[in-house]
Amino acid sequence: MNVRDAELIRGILEEAGLQETEDSRTADVILLVSCAVREHAETRVLGRLTQLASLRKKAGGPSCICLCGCVAREHGDDLLDRFPGLDLVVGPDCYRDLPGLIRSGTREAVAQSRREHYENVPSVGRAFPRAFVTVMRGCDNYCAYCIVPLVRGRERSRSFSMILAEVEELRERGFGEVALLGQNVNSYRYRGTGFPRLLDSVAERAGRMWVRFVTSHPKDFSQNLVEVIAARPNVCNQVHLPVQSGSSEILRRMGRGYTREDYLSKVRMLRRAVPDVVISTDMMAGFPGETEEDFRSSVTLLEEVAFDYAFLFRYSERKGTRACGMENAVPEEERLGRLHVLQEVQRGITLRRSRRLVGGHRKVLVTGEGKMPGQRIGRTEGNRVVVLEEPSLDPGSFAEVRITGADGWTHMGSLERVCDR
Ligand code: SF4
Repeated sequence: MNVRDAELIRGILEEAGLQETEDSRTADVILLVSCAVREHAETRVLGRLTQLASLRKKAGGPSCICLCGCVAREHGDDLLDRFPGLDLVVGPDCYRDLPGLIRSGTREAVAQSRREHYENVPSVGRAFPRAFVTVMRGCDNYCAYCIVPLVRGRERSRSFSMILAEVEELRERGFGEVALLGQNVNSYRYRGTGFPRLLDSVAERAGRMWVRFVTSHPKDFSQNLVEVIAARPNVCNQVHLPVQSGSSEILRRMGRGYTREDYLSKVRMLRRAVPDVVISTDMMAGFPGETEEDFRSSVTLLEEVAFDYAFLFRYSERKGTRACGMENAVPEEERLGRLHVLQEVQRGITLRRSRRLVGGHRKVLVTGEGKMPGQRIGRTEGNRVVVLEEPSLDPGSFAEVRITGADGWTHMGSLERVCDR
């Protein structure tokens, strides 16, 4: 989501005549895009602000330092008081104001929530050959632990035809993959059109581009959507389905709207229709009230589903959310200990599932250069990373590779043939 926000900011600023530099020592304007979902990310961005403030004191330092994104929306004006080196605080719905604010040279916080869809912002496409298209913004779910509805505002969906036009443009420009983005893509609704129909139409217009989407809420994950994934060959066989906990009681306290059994039955529905689907999840350890037994349910859920990949976190308290101040908080040390157990269990599962690919063939989209000279990085339809020793492959090309090894989520591959797109 924030990569896409950075793209929007680039598009808006480039259109206004500003030019990007990667070197913060020579920049006139420095922008930070912040995330408020977890305390750790917020602490890091605020730490970075303190570092950048020292650049202001040097001759030729930046004339404007701006904090964008969800932390800006969360704290607004307060940040200007706390960080004297900070000039602008701009929330996620106010990026169109950036050029005017930068030119005005004022110190200001513009962070209110608006019905902003960012239509007609030129797409810079820096992540070529992968592209992101936002289909909806905001969230109305108010899960007990989550700050997103407070900083990104209410749900609003973009126009069906604008999304399709953007996808067609990406296809014309030779992109290899488009990811449809939304806090909860299943909540997409535009004049009676829901997400399964949108996905189907996008797949039709995408030609040979791969199509992904993120994020799906398990309570809204439907048979109709599964049918589109199964029927459309260019919709990737990959679903990110955040479960958060394996305990029905904790899920109830979180306000997630499904039980452990509901979740498992959605996974079964998906695997029945798309047998080789790659499923990833988010799970947190130590939500308030999580007993040892609840925690064991999370461990057994990881094992039962055998996720290909999981993003695992310890519960992080966010002010203003319902969970903040809930009774029976789990001590920080215990949260961390539980997180380590989840990580250890999942590491084994990920490795086991990745190794099943070794010796087989996969189609990959070459996405860029690897860490070592001559290496290329590709992604499979399941979003697995494949490292190739093939300097002749250009980003954007599709290739069939033989998987020769696996280390966690990263695989090694050798080129069999370049595919006709
Ligand atoms: S659905 Fe996702 S974004 Fe919305 S409140 Fe719940 S966790 Fe946050």
